[in-house]
This record gives sequence, structure tokens and C-alpha cells, in this order.
Amino acid sequence: MIKITDLKKSFRTEEVETLALNGVNLKVEDGEFVAIMGPSGCGKSTLLNIIGMLDNPTQGSYNFAGHEVGGLKESQRTQLRKGNLGFVFQSFNLIDELTVFENVELPLIYLKMNKAERKEKVLKVLERMKIAHREKHFPQQLSGGQQQRVAIARAVVTNPKLILADEPTGNLDSKNGIEVMNLLTELNQEGTTIVMVTHSDRDSHYAHRVINLFDGQIVTESQNKPMKSMV
Ligand code: ADP
Ligand code: ADP
Repeated sequence: MIKITDLKKSFRTEEVETLALNGVNLKVEDGEFVAIMGPSGCGKSTLLNIIGMLDNPTQGSYNFAGHEVGGLKESQRTQLRKGNLGFVFQSFNLIDELTVFENVELPLIYLKMNKAERKEKVLKVLERMKIAHREKHFPQQLSGGQQQRVAIARAVVTNPKLILADEPTGNLDSKNGIEVMNLLTELNQEGTTIVMVTHSDRDSHYAHRVINLFDGQIVTESQNKPMKSMV
């Protein structure tokens, strides 16, 4: 699904140039669950943003599902992202002015789906994430664990091929963190590919493969025997 070759990314601010990624090679197969780890500032978010087509590499190539991303126009890239990618963030990134239902409905509106179909899909995914009873609530009325379940519902309502998760349990206590990891594991077992950035050793055990970044390079990779679930 993902093939990254000799990827470099530098940021220039005034006189300083930061090489955030310095020659990354990475393949992720369909159905894999990959964790990216490493110290703060090593390039994890930069890599995830490039995989998510939110940012462009300075050098190297990125192929997603057969598409050479660097060669696409912005509109083509947006199209590719809308149908294939779901994002989950540490800080949930829900829209406070919209209800739970409306937050999850939004990606389907972008896909121009009709109202009846949207309603059916949103309710189904809210049930699945055990948050349907909160459909009329606003994000600020929910606990952190509940907000992250809404965010996962929003990420998966379009049936993406790939979920990108940036520290998905970073703001959660261990009970809610484990619940979120179990949901991600279930989605992965149903065939969704997952690439997750994490600082948590616990969370990394859910992945099939752990990639360690250091100073913008992949320094080690290890294969996990993934846990089915951890309760
Ligand atoms: P991590 O997610 O591993 O903490 P990041 O990918 O956020 O690391 O950052 C990698 C490096 O690139 C850091 O040195 C960071 O300061 C720098 N960096 C990231 N984004 C930007 C930016 N938009 N402008 C300038 N420097 C950046
Ligand atoms: P859960 O374990 O279901 O994620 P919590 O144990 O954190 O939820 O919260 C217990 C109950 O209190 C839940 O039903 C939740 O909706 C409610 N609750 C938590 N935080 C808030 C809040 N800020 N405003 C209103 N209700 C809240």
C-alpha cells in the first residue's frame, strides 16, 4: 500500500535548516499495523503527515496504492485522501460547535453522499464505537475516551483503506487507552491498514511491526507477535 524511497524532508526557517527526515525507506503492506516510535523531534509526525498527504517531501518518492503522490495535482491528492485515509489525533480534533452526529457526518458530506445514506452510516459507526447514545451531545460534554471514540468513528465512517493515528492514546488514561487500542486492533483485523505514531510501549505491542526513528532515519525495525486484545 505504501512505498517510500529515499525520502527527505527539510524545513527552512530564517537562517536555520532542519533536516526532519534524512533518507527514509519504508514499505507497508495491505493489512499491516505499523507503529512508529522514537524520541521527540526525530521526525515521526513529519513522516506521518507525508504519508497522510498533508505535507510534501523535499526529495525522494512516495507511492500510495499505486499512485506516485509527488506527481499528483493538489486536487487529485485531496481526492485520493478523501476516499482512502482516516486520521486520528492525540487531541481528538473534533469540531466543538458540531454535535457528535454532525462531526462524524462531515466526511460523508465531503464525499457528497445523500442524507439518508449518511444517517444510516453515521448511526451504524456510532453504535460500533459504543457512543450512539451521545449523538446529540457536543464534544465538550464528553469524556476524553468518548471523544476519541467519536474521532475514530469519524475516521472510519468512509471505510478508509488506511488509518493514520498520531499518539491516539496520548491524552487518555489507561482504561480508555486500552479501549482505543482494542478498537484499532479490531479495525485492523477487518482489513484496515494502520500506521500509528506512539511513545507508549504498551501501544506498540498492538502493532505487527515497530519502526524506530532517530534523527530522521529508521534505525531499527522489529516484528511483533500482536496481542489479540488486552483487557
Ligand atoms: P516528532 O514527531 O518525532 O516529535 P517532528 O516530525 O514533529 O518530530 O519534527 C522533526 C524535526 O523537524 C524537529 O526538529 C522539528 O523541530 C522540525 N519541524 C517539524 N515541523 C516543522 C516546521 N513546520 N517548521 C520547521 N521545523 C519543523
Ligand atoms: P467513559 O468511561 O464512558 O468514556 P467516563 O467514565 O469518563 O466515560 O465518564 C462517566 C460518565 O460521565 C459518562 O457517561 C460521561 O458521558 C459523563 N461525562 C464525563 N465527562 C463529562 C463532561 N465533561 N460533561 C458531561 N458529562 C460528562
